Amino acid sequence: MTDSGDIHSIEDLLHAVADYLEWQKRLGHPGLPVDLLLARRQQERERAVSQAASSPSSAPQRTSAPATPTQADTSTERNNDMPRVSKPPVQPIADPTRKPVYTGERLVLESIRSELGDCTRCKLSATRKNIVFGEGNPDADIMFIGEGPGADEDEQGRPFVGRAGKLLDRWIELGMGIPRNQVYIANIVKCRPPNNRDPETDEAETCMPFLKQQIRAVQPRVIVLLGRVPMGRLLGVKEGITRVHGNWYDYEGIPTMPIFHPSYCLRPPQDEKRRIVWEDLKKVMIHLGMPIPGKK
Ligand code: SF4
Repeated sequence: MTDSGDIHSIEDLLHAVADYLEWQKRLGHPGLPVDLLLARRQQERERAVSQAASSPSSAPQRTSAPATPTQADTSTERNNDMPRVSKPPVQPIADPTRKPVYTGERLVLESIRSELGDCTRCKLSATRKNIVFGEGNPDADIMFIGEGPGADEDEQGRPFVGRAGKLLDRWIELGMGIPRNQVYIANIVKCRPPNNRDPETDEAETCMPFLKQQIRAVQPRVIVLLGRVPMGRLLGVKEGITRVHGNWYDYEGIPTMPIFHPSYCLRPPQDEKRRIVWEDLKKVMIHLGMPIPGKK
């Protein structure tokens, strides 16, 4: 190749250019300088790939500043890096063979009642006649939970003693074949909401710690939630009771089933609603290994 120091004429220059192009051709990069620029970039890319291939454990070396990732790039990286999370099942089915296991000392209903005292923790205390704590077998297999006392319950200080309570008694005693005093019955709130309205959030949240302690004291094998309100409060289920009744949920390891509230079944069409309740209660009985009687 001609040394640039030897160029003294146009002819020398032409020879130098010819030699240069010939040299590039031997290198495998024939053509004009613009091709040389592209070829050099290609060489750099190939060198980077070669280096990465020779040391696979090392991080890839960037030959230029990284471009700002586009939204598409970012989402692709996110999709590759993040494990796919499947949605939890809509109806978590508790293991029917499992009994709830609580750590720590078992709570005693009497001490919970004593701690509740003549409660004025929420505004329902202003209008109640009696606190309706709950009643039944402290060792019951089944715990029924409603939303709150009505007028009859407020009067007597006992849960489910009005018309709806009478129907609940029929479900328990005639349907399931269990004396009422062998189950445990309680409510989300222990004082009657005025005009039988739903308990408000502050009232439910203030009162529910006592109910939760009662559940831990009784340790039932099954909880049956009577209607939409206890279902929403204890399980956080927002769907309508007509959609989700009869399905198993899990409350602190206890198989829990929402069913219709007895007062809902006092309104037409009673026969259809009570048939649905009976189908749900049969699931509870099957779960507990109870014999299913014929026609009810
Ligand atoms: S509803 Fe519960 S928290 Fe409210 S006053 Fe009655 S017992 Fe107390």
